[in-house]
Amino acid sequence: MRLSRFFAPTLKENPTEAQIVSHRLMLRAGMIRQHAAGIYNWLPLGNRVLQNVARIVREEQNAAGALEIIMPTIQSADLWRESGRYDDYGAEMLRIKDRHERDMLYGPTHEEVVTDIFRTNLKSYRDLPKNLYQINWKFRDEVRPRFGLMRGREFLMKDAYSFDLDYASARHSYNQMIVAYLRTFARMGLRAIPMAAETGPIGGTLSHEFIVLADTGESAVYCHKAYLDKPIPENVNYNADLSHIVEDWTSLYAAADEKHDPKKADELGADLVSARGIEVGHTFYLGKKYSTALGAKVVGPDGNQVEVEMGCYGIGVSRCVAAIIEASHDENGIVWPDSVAPFYVGIINLKVGDKACDEACEKIHDAIQLQGCDALYDDRDERAGVKFADMDLMGIPWQIVVGPKGIAKGMVELKRRATGAKEELSLESAVSKLSATI
Ligand code: ATP
Ligand code: MG
Repeated sequence: MRLSRFFAPTLKENPTEAQIVSHRLMLRAGMIRQHAAGIYNWLPLGNRVLQNVARIVREEQNAAGALEIIMPTIQSADLWRESGRYDDYGAEMLRIKDRHERDMLYGPTHEEVVTDIFRTNLKSYRDLPKNLYQINWKFRDEVRPRFGLMRGREFLMKDAYSFDLDYASARHSYNQMIVAYLRTFARMGLRAIPMAAETGPIGGTLSHEFIVLADTGESAVYCHKAYLDKPIPENVNYNADLSHIVEDWTSLYAAADEKHDPKKADELGADLVSARGIEVGHTFYLGKKYSTALGAKVVGPDGNQVEVEMGCYGIGVSRCVAAIIEASHDENGIVWPDSVAPFYVGIINLKVGDKACDEACEKIHDAIQLQGCDALYDDRDERAGVKFADMDLMGIPWQIVVGPKGIAKGMVELKRRATGAKEELSLESAVSKLSATI
């Protein structure tokens, strides 16, 4: 992609409306623009990152056996009356009337809709277990939308819902999601710690919030320091018993806000980490709350009707983009982890119009693209300083600088954004070094 044809309206100055670094950098790098309070446009650079985050979420959900669907964003109020939540949900729910004066709403969550899908289509214990998920926009009319994507009103969420015959099986489904979450967040460069959580208006008994430690986090969190470097499960067999992994990840002290027990935390002494945290995901064991309310039953092995056991599991996909920036930036801008970067390689042409420079840049660009990897080629007629600053601001993980002096000797400079390490290499070695990392 040539930067001259791309659309990333970067800003030199810090926008005054942004209070936290992720919001500031997303605006400055030209990733997003606000449309209305808590509602954003995702411009090409932002969208590329959002899609990368969603892809990781999707791959790990699929690996854990969840099935992707898409449910409507606009829902009928009838189902919510049936579950009893229409009145309970309060002002966070955006209520709409259609032209026939029917009550509709923009979904803040989808337990009702998914339970309706289940009850009308699945009838036997042989259909179980099932885990259905979507990656879709939600609307919650938050009292105080703030911090950009961190607390938006419209935001992208992955929401999964599990259906099982009995508690043991429901617990396994819950464990599958816990393990998938550990892997998902780690792949996007986040260390998210599962912390005991309140279940709130969603209901149920067992619940964990996945929290990323960050100074700008909205909640106060406390955990054992062993969570900071616990190894992430690999080569997981999701059909096998996962309880030892979940036990290992949930037995040490970790709690946010209301669940925090100062007495228990104090026992940890020097092992206690107390910090601020961002909630990037949430898992709930729901039991039969919705299956009872909406009559989601299957015929059991003995021929009797059984209400199904449910769980629900959310990931704030758009919030993750902001959380990644909070966790990974420096004074020059964003430092994307390779896995979510909008472009893997940036090419900076120091003398656009110089035949040797132009040809070298195009050669590198095409070689990288051929590897199935996206490169952003800064072919603008701009000062070198502006180009360096923009590439760093946008956080491109590898940068190749092509200038007339170097290229006369066949040499370019390769820079790693995260460390700032620079190396002078022949054009061919730079390309093959990068290719080896793809
Ligand atoms: P919070 O406590 O932050 O208000 P929640 O507990 O109400 O979130 P859940 O219902 O658990 O949210 O939603 C699942 C996930 O969706 C959350 O873990 C969070 O990552 C994300 N999320 C929730 N509300 C917002 C929001 N207003 N903006 C962006 N992401 C959100
Ligand atoms: Mg939550």
